[in-house]
Order: sequence, then structure tokens, then C-alpha cells
Amino acid sequence: MSGTTRSDRTSVDANAHHADDETIRVLRPRRAAPADAVRPTRAEINLGAVRHNLHVLRRALQTQGVTASAPSIWGVLKADAYGHGAPAVARTLERAKIDGLCVALLEEAIELRSAGITIPILVMGGYFGPAHRGLEEVLEHDLTPVLYHPDQIERLATLTRDRNLETRPAFHVKVDTGMARLGAAPTNVDALFDVIADHRELEFRGLMSHLACADDPEPGPTNLQLRAFADVRERARRHRLVPQVCHIANSAAALAYPSTRFDAVRPGIALYGVSPFFGRSSVADAALSASGELRPVMRVRTEIVALRDLAAGDAVGYCHTWRASSPRRIATVPMGYADGLTRSLSNKGAMLVRGRRAPIVGVVSMDLTTIDVTDIPGAALGDEVVVLGSQEPPRAPLIADNADRTAAAITAEEIAQHTGTIPWEVVTNISRRVPRFYREP
Ligand SMILES: *Cc1c(COP(=O)(O)O)cnc(C)c1O
Repeated sequence: MSGTTRSDRTSVDANAHHADDETIRVLRPRRAAPADAVRPTRAEINLGAVRHNLHVLRRALQTQGVTASAPSIWGVLKADAYGHGAPAVARTLERAKIDGLCVALLEEAIELRSAGITIPILVMGGYFGPAHRGLEEVLEHDLTPVLYHPDQIERLATLTRDRNLETRPAFHVKVDTGMARLGAAPTNVDALFDVIADHRELEFRGLMSHLACADDPEPGPTNLQLRAFADVRERARRHRLVPQVCHIANSAAALAYPSTRFDAVRPGIALYGVSPFFGRSSVADAALSASGELRPVMRVRTEIVALRDLAAGDAVGYCHTWRASSPRRIATVPMGYADGLTRSLSNKGAMLVRGRRAPIVGVVSMDLTTIDVTDIPGAALGDEVVVLGSQEPPRAPLIADNADRTAAAITAEEIAQHTGTIPWEVVTNISRRVPRFYREP
């Protein structure tokens, strides 16, 4: 097989697959499409806001970091672009000339290639199956794998030889500088670099690590990781290995720690318009002002589908966890925990109706949630209900007091606070049952 030429490539691929008889079946994520939407519950994705957030990041990164020029930006689109729909977000970022994309899974990368995305895609998860079989798909789809074990390097080298490729396949190496999760331990990198140095048919293009505490005001752990990273780079140099791109920064680090801006940065959450400084009080002014300019990309809305008047003493929902202390008007909305509205919002938090907050009452059930609209004059069947994002109040004379006319908003941060989680989980939780509608203003 090693004697075949480039023109034989298709048959080589087919032979390789038959010989191994076990090609990977990649499962495409399925999600509800707008055309399937009978229910008024939907997530509106504002692609203009994605572009805006990329510009905000670009501007923020122009100030001095580690390298002479501003770092390139590799947008993180794992988990279906944090629930926003990866193909649409990728197309938007590609048109806005982002440098590259990162995903966690091979499946996620293949989905983007199938959607016609041609810019570099880094597959960060590092899992390519017990026999590293996924590396064949990596080559086939022109993806860049993140590797951290000598066996993975050997396997990629074998595949490369078998295929007689014209260009050297590139890979990035991940080192564990203090997260203790994934990547080569600093004690093993010399052995890894020995193997890499033996395989010049591959291109060691990038060196990366991931920060554990970049969203923490205490810089100690981040500085320790930076020192470990510098040490690993030095050891690579001693093996005469100089990767083109070093990168370590997520959104929080890219904005708050200029010392983490190497050749590239890997923002995720900031691209979706959510501040990475959740629950953090002390943040550098520049970072805070940049994160303040971010615009939320996702808005989740539904409508009131039922209304009922309860007498004092009447109870609502499973296990009667909420009881009316006075006559109350209760609205039902068709969204529940199966849609990603976590059940821990039961009797907590609120939704927006006519620009005002209606508290969630009773437990969130699988498909339905109940809210108290007693204090919202005129609340009616078919009214829009905003679960996440902002809502313009109706124009006078629909509202009685003209005082309360500013647009209200429910943020991912607010939901995270109520439910003891982080905004990342709030947006990625919105399930595939909720169709995504794209707006491109
Ligand atoms: C998710 C992820 C990021 C992006 O993190 P944000 O906090 O969303 O910016 C960057 N790097 C790696 C390795 C990740 O897994």
C-alpha cells in the first residue's frame, strides 16, 4: 500500500476501510427544525450579535499581549456551539474571517465540514477511539487533531505513510499544566517530544494547554500554569521543536490576563455574548468594559397557552409545592425540563410577559411550566413569554404606568444564580427539542 500514488487515494481509503472492516459511524446530531415547529417555543439566534462579539474580542485583544501582534482567534463551537447551532454560527464566523474553529468531538468537526466550512478546525477532545481509529476521519476531513500520547503520534504517522499524502498532516499537542484532566503531563513531555522529533512527516503545528482558574480573581494558579507552559515550550525547543502556534486562553483569560495571549486565543462563551466573569467581583477595567459590550446571542421565547384563576388555598403542579395565598392568575407556558429549562427553577426565577417579570410557581414539569401573571395587567392567551433574553414592554396605552418602559431581560447569569450553576450550562442545556430560528440583522 505504501507504493501507491496520490491518484490511487480513493481506492487506498476503501482498502484501508475494508481491511480494518470497522469504519467509524459518525452520528449526526439531530435537532428540531423551524418547519417542524407547531409549538410557539423557540430559541432565536441573533447571528449579527455573534459578529458583534467577535469585533468586541478583536478590539480587546489589540492591546499588548505576549506576542508582537494581536493573537489570532479560534472560536470554540463545541456542544453545538454552546446550544446555538454550530453550522450557522460557524458560517457566520467564517464569513467574518475568524482564523479557525475548535470543537471537542470528531463528530462535531465532521458536522461542520459537511456544512461546507473550510477554515481550520481543531478537534480538542483528544479521543479518537481505543485504536485511535478516528484519526483516519481526521485526515479524510482535513481536520487538525489535538494529541497528547506517543501512540497517537505513531498512529497518525502510519496512516500518513499509507496514504502517501502530499502535505504533512498538522497536529497540536496538549499539555496538562495544572488542570489534571487531559493532556501530556509535564513529566512525560520529553518522551512525547522524542517521538514527535522522529516523525518529520508530520507537522507539529501547535502547543496548547487549558487554564483551570482564569475566571478567578486570584492570579496565583494561572501564573503557575503559565510557568509550567513556558517550561514545556523550552523543552520542546531543546528537541528542536518550535510549534507555530501556542495557545492557552479561554474567554476569561483572553480578556482578563494579557499574559495568556500567545499566538492564538480560544474564546467560547464570549462569542455567545455571555460574560465569562460570572459571579466575580474584581475584574480589570479593560476586561470588564469589553465584557460589558458583549451582546447575548440567544433569546428563548414561548407563549401563554392556558390561563386560570385560582382561589386562595388552591395549589399548583406536581406535589402541590406552591399554594395561592390570595386569588391568583396563573399562566401555563409550553416549555419544561425536557427543553432544557432545568427543574431546579421550580418556584424560583421568573419569565417576562408584557415587559414584566412573572414569577415561576410550582415545579417545572417535563413539557410545561406555570407562572404567576396576577400583577401583569391584560396578560392574555397568546402573549409572548420570554424565558431567556430581553423583551420590549408593550407601547402605551397598553401599560398603565408609563414609568416601567425599559426593556426587561432575563440573563443566563441570572438563571445560573437561581439554580446553582454557571451560564455555560444554561445555554448548552436548551435541548434539541427547541427549534433554533436564525436572525441576521
Ligand atoms: C470550552 C473550552 C474553551 C472555551 O472556554 P470559554 O470559557 O467558553 O471561553 C477553550 N479551550 C478549551 C480546551 C475548552 O474546552
